[in-house]
Amino acid sequence: DDKSTVSITVVGASGDLAKKKIFPALFALYYEDCLPEHFTIFGYARSKMTDAELRDMVSRTLTCRIDKRENCGEKMEQFLQRCFYHSGQYDSQENFAELDKILKEHEAGRVSNRLFYLSIPPNIFVDAVKCASLSATASAGWTRVIVEKPFGRDSESSAALTKSLKQYLTEDQIFRIDHYLGKELVENLSVLRFSNLIFEPLWSRQYIRNVQLIFSEDFGTEGRGGYFDHYGIMRDIMQNHLLQILALFAMETPVSLDAEDIRNEKVKVLRSMRPIRADDVILGQYKSHTKGGVSYPGYTDDKTVPKDSLTPTFAAAALFIDNARWDGVPFLMKAGKALHDKRAEIRVQFRNVPGNLYNRSSGTDIDQATNELVIRVQPDEAIYLKINNKVPGLGMRLDQSNLNLLYKARYSKEIPDAYERLLLDAVEGERRLFIRSDELDAAWALFTPVLKDLEENRKVPEYYPYGSRGPVGAHYLAARYNVKWGDLGVDE
Ligand code: NAP
Repeated sequence: DDKSTVSITVVGASGDLAKKKIFPALFALYYEDCLPEHFTIFGYARSKMTDAELRDMVSRTLTCRIDKRENCGEKMEQFLQRCFYHSGQYDSQENFAELDKILKEHEAGRVSNRLFYLSIPPNIFVDAVKCASLSATASAGWTRVIVEKPFGRDSESSAALTKSLKQYLTEDQIFRIDHYLGKELVENLSVLRFSNLIFEPLWSRQYIRNVQLIFSEDFGTEGRGGYFDHYGIMRDIMQNHLLQILALFAMETPVSLDAEDIRNEKVKVLRSMRPIRADDVILGQYKSHTKGGVSYPGYTDDKTVPKDSLTPTFAAAALFIDNARWDGVPFLMKAGKALHDKRAEIRVQFRNVPGNLYNRSSGTDIDQATNELVIRVQPDEAIYLKINNKVPGLGMRLDQSNLNLLYKARYSKEIPDAYERLLLDAVEGERRLFIRSDELDAAWALFTPVLKDLEENRKVPEYYPYGSRGPVGAHYLAARYNVKWGDLGVDE
């Protein structure tokens, strides 16, 4: 309302994430008229910068949606005029008190609400939270803090981080971001399931043979391996992004769409999961490879990575949910860097048709095909269902076709970036897409023992060439559970 204001402070504003994601997302929200009438954006970091320099830096990465080009320049200018910068240390209460003073000037006596986005390395999270909370908390309105992964690297360090944060913040104030939850097709998972009669009845061990959660990148660490090397792909992608998707996918119907109801169901899934066996995990690391005269570096060629690093850049794992709905259904995860393509998708493979008439008639392979539902989260968002279909003509021949919902063909609107939704939710106090601390604990409780086991035994990753499909071990793992990875065939 007219009497209140929101100040958004991007802590670590000089960094990569701020430039690439946070400022562009804030601008998109501004353009869409989603931000409150009175708002101010502050950049905070150690680097020395004037307001003008911040604006100049930010202006380089702002874009307008394809369908909203008019007034774009004007809107950008208006937006930039509301961006300011303050330089300070992350562990200085004094510097945050200076920030507080300037924020107050901008708030001009209105009820102040403050959102801090911590876009800084994890070792300084607690310092920054301490200083922000002691010196720059909103005096009348709310104060919220968005925290980015990594939330620790195992149960202990995660619990220690939560404990430290809670010295200064209540759980209500902490917004742990997992940007996969802000992606359009992940948001759509529950809509697909709970608002279409045809899916929910099939959503169990009765009809689903296996579920695959696949993430791949077609590039390596490329000189930014320092952070990654300390974590590895299982912590970087599986324990958070893929596991969050799994929980949403597999949860029971929540009582309502309220944040607490949904998060309660997700926690139940995580707590029902069977401990992951080290045997059910395949690790890989990419090695250098020359293709068409171009040579691609191996992981340990990255100058920021120790030469003898065993850190996995690829992992595949089989997970199980020991509850009535999912007993015995393998949930296979696969995540890797420097692979042949770039994608994130969920694949649901259904069981064979019992007593299939058509298996008997022609005996071709295609007749054996089972239905598969694919939810492609990125790129080229799509949902498609593979069905068996009669090839038109006088004979009786079947092939596999897709019922295909390709977003860009169906919707002319550009899809908002995940960060837009999440920032808007944080401003509005909507917690559904953020990770509650008990969810985080449950996720670490699942992954910590197997990570410890693999690391203590110094399990050597299987080396795979940069740009390949990853280690063959992933196929053996899938075969153990009678599964074929769905991303290997031709889909469209
Ligand atoms: P970044 O560029 O490495 O760091 C952000 C800012 O923090 C830097 O501009 C720097 O600002 C300050 N900083 C860096 N290292 C520091 C140190 N050792 N001590 C004190 N300050 C330091 O990080 P980022 O890529 O923007 O990512 C920010 C956060 O988001 C990190 O926690 C990261 O793990 C997480 N994250 C990033 C991405 C991504 O796409 N980049 C994705 C997911 C999560 P000053 O020197 O000016 O103070």
